[in-house]
Amino acid sequence: MILKGKKGVIFGVANKNSLAWAIAQSAQEQGAELTLCVANERFRQKVTPLAASIGLGEPLICDVTSDESIQSTFKVLGSRLGEIDFMVHAIAFANREDLQGRFVDTSRLGYHVAQDISSYSLCAMAKEAEKMMPQGGSIVTLSYIGAKRAIPGYNVMGVAKASLEASVRYLAADLGPSKIRVNAVSAGPVKTLSSSAVSGLKEKLDLHIGVCPLRRNITQKEVGDATAFLASDLASGVTGDVLYVDCGYHIAGRWD
Ligand code: NAD
Repeated sequence: MILKGKKGVIFGVANKNSLAWAIAQSAQEQGAELTLCVANERFRQKVTPLAASIGLGEPLICDVTSDESIQSTFKVLGSRLGEIDFMVHAIAFANREDLQGRFVDTSRLGYHVAQDISSYSLCAMAKEAEKMMPQGGSIVTLSYIGAKRAIPGYNVMGVAKASLEASVRYLAADLGPSKIRVNAVSAGPVKTLSSSAVSGLKEKLDLHIGVCPLRRNITQKEVGDATAFLASDLASGVTGDVLYVDCGYHIAGRWD
């Protein structure tokens, strides 16, 4: 029960395959009191029964492309919860046409959309979360190895993840004096609504098994458990970092 007595907010549940949903389940198993946030009314209708299945209330709506939406969501969170101990950002989006072919063909608008939703949103949300963490806290976001390597098809999202990981470091530096830690979990590939938009997901999953030391794909639960650890006081000395939950893929070498 490493999150017993802790209050947390989790953004990014779309359905039962979402990494955010696995994180919610792990955090709840570890004793956290949770509020979920979803992108729009359509997702609220889908996620409400899921939330109810583990005893959580109706999710709040937060569209991270809008400063007003972020601010009004945190206003409601503030009035309901007072303070929070952790926030999870499990949000990303890029236009489907920018997740195939060549990165060099990315449009200005497509680049902007991916950065805005997948990276800048962490900064805007951390600013609001800080006000609800007067005793300190933990912020965790989700990244992918495409931040560091040119993964075929990941394209504009890899650039957004690189910016997200840099944001983790700058936010950790800014918020550290307020005892707020900021970290990322870099997850291996797993089939979700978002990852299905990336071309060649099946090939990535197969390649992963062949290359990574543990010779298997990750599970959503492993991402949930690692995120619960970073949200908890067990990780009290860890900030500005990226924790790989990828069965060791990122350290593996290949002959070809
Ligand atoms: P998902 O589709 O279940 O989750 C993505 C979420 O982003 C959805 O809930 C969606 O509603 C939300 N979102 C998109 N635009 C939004 C907006 N404007 N406002 C608010 N929310 C918005 O897919 P997932 O794979 O669970 O993705 C969660 C995070 O994990 C993402 O950051 C993703 O890049 C990252 N990740 C996924 C994988 C993978 O293989 N699935 C690997 C590494 C990292």
